Amino acid sequence: SIPLSQQITLPNGITYEQPTGLFIDGEFVASRQHKTFEVINPSTEEEITHVYEARDDDVELAVEAAERAFNSSWSEADPEFRGKVLYKLADLIERDAEILAGIESLDNGKSLLCSRYDVNLVAKYIRSCAGWADKVYGQVIETGNTHFNYTRREPIGICGQIIPWNFPLLMWSWKIGPALATGNTVVLKQAESTPLSALYGAKLLQEAGLPKGVVNIVSGFGKIVGEKISRHPKIKKIAFTGSTATGRHIMKAAAESNLKKVTLELGGKSPNIVFNDADIKKTVQNLITGIYFNSGEVCCAGSRIYVQDGIYDELLAEFKRSIEELKVGNPFEEGTFQGPQTSQMQLDKILSYVKIGLDEGATLVTGGERLGDKGYFVKPTVFADVKENSRIVKEEIFGPIATVSKFSTVDEVIKYANDSNYGLAAGIHTTDINKAIDVSNRVKAGTVWVNTYNDFHQQVPFGGYGESGIGREMGADALDNYTQIKAVRISI
Ligand code: NAD
Repeated sequence: SIPLSQQITLPNGITYEQPTGLFIDGEFVASRQHKTFEVINPSTEEEITHVYEARDDDVELAVEAAERAFNSSWSEADPEFRGKVLYKLADLIERDAEILAGIESLDNGKSLLCSRYDVNLVAKYIRSCAGWADKVYGQVIETGNTHFNYTRREPIGICGQIIPWNFPLLMWSWKIGPALATGNTVVLKQAESTPLSALYGAKLLQEAGLPKGVVNIVSGFGKIVGEKISRHPKIKKIAFTGSTATGRHIMKAAAESNLKKVTLELGGKSPNIVFNDADIKKTVQNLITGIYFNSGEVCCAGSRIYVQDGIYDELLAEFKRSIEELKVGNPFEEGTFQGPQTSQMQLDKILSYVKIGLDEGATLVTGGERLGDKGYFVKPTVFADVKENSRIVKEEIFGPIATVSKFSTVDEVIKYANDSNYGLAAGIHTTDINKAIDVSNRVKAGTVWVNTYNDFHQQVPFGGYGESGIGREMGADALDNYTQIKAVRISI
């Protein structure tokens, strides 16, 4: 057994109270079997703390609590009340922004620069969901004078939500925000390597006055808790962010159990295309944000860079120079751009792709090595002279490795860009608006960024084409994933 919370002092001197229990029925509790697991600091490879680990019986309790909450207080609540709780939550996130940013940098390893970006977007997104709560509309449908027809958007019920380790708090907000605004209840499992911020967020939910049982957090492992959530007959919907392989598995489990509604936000290998007429300095900054932001652990990372032949040499030289100036290291030091990778597994995966790239005959332009021998740090890496069908161009690496290829014509680069099973995002860099619109239309991706990259806004939907996912998060479209339409036809 461990205590249900622990005081933690962050490397920047901030001390806070970290919940370690599961969050079930409005309370932090020990797991039934009193199992715990260790949380590791990826910058030092040392233990941060232990948290309680859920098993099947804990998930059962969480589902029962979510069911009671759905049937009593929440789904039928005045939408204004749901909005009020979410507005309060957004305020609390802003109040504790530096604690939350510190938790993310400690647990995930991302630089404070990235954590602060995340927390800022989390607060904005939760506030945006608060605003939606009393704006969920149905329709009146005219079919002549014999009938009156209308539709209602009703909540789905208990939603299972499984989130990854690359944006622990941001994904928590993308999941719970629209679910709560529309009157659903939640059983959420965060990633086992980054469990801390979701638990701190649960404390803020308590303080915001969320009725008990509306959100339940069951920290634990994918193969146990994730599996149980995906197959639970009382859970009516599952929302998942993570790898395409696990997404496919979850969809199968959802189909085999009770045909849960499924939304998936999965992997990517996004093209980032630079035309001859692009502004080189600005584009290089966008390419860096595209692939090295969040240590490259971004599902929509602009990992395949295509540069038109007229500026290829100049751009590559400027890109290399700028990358080599990036500060990689302690995520808590001001000015650090890139912290460590989140886990040993990710570090090993990235280094294995460096070897694959070299074996495939690509030219290593910069990086390609681990930094230091403690912590999962790796240098920002670029490969050039890559073959289009090579593994480093085709497979999601999920780290700070970009490939750079040369192209001549628009048709050629569209062919390269679309030659992928993924379709999460794409970048286009040009000063020609006609070309920007033409290429945006032809590229197969759920998000297209023109002269920017990894540039999110809470009102703009995000999600994938192809094997990058199903459904959209953020914006009004996210509400569709958490409501079902009831049509009422009345004979008059
Ligand atoms: P993962 O997809 O397996 O893990 C994501 C979440 O799914 C975690 O909470 C995990 O516990 C859970 N999970 C794992 N197996 C499950 C199962 N059988 N049933 C239900 N839930 C399950 O990803 P990973 O193993 O942590 O990382 C592997 C690779 O996935 C990475 O290298 C990266 O390429 C990719 N990835 C992509 C994203 C993304 O946002 N697109 C996020 C994380 C990882």
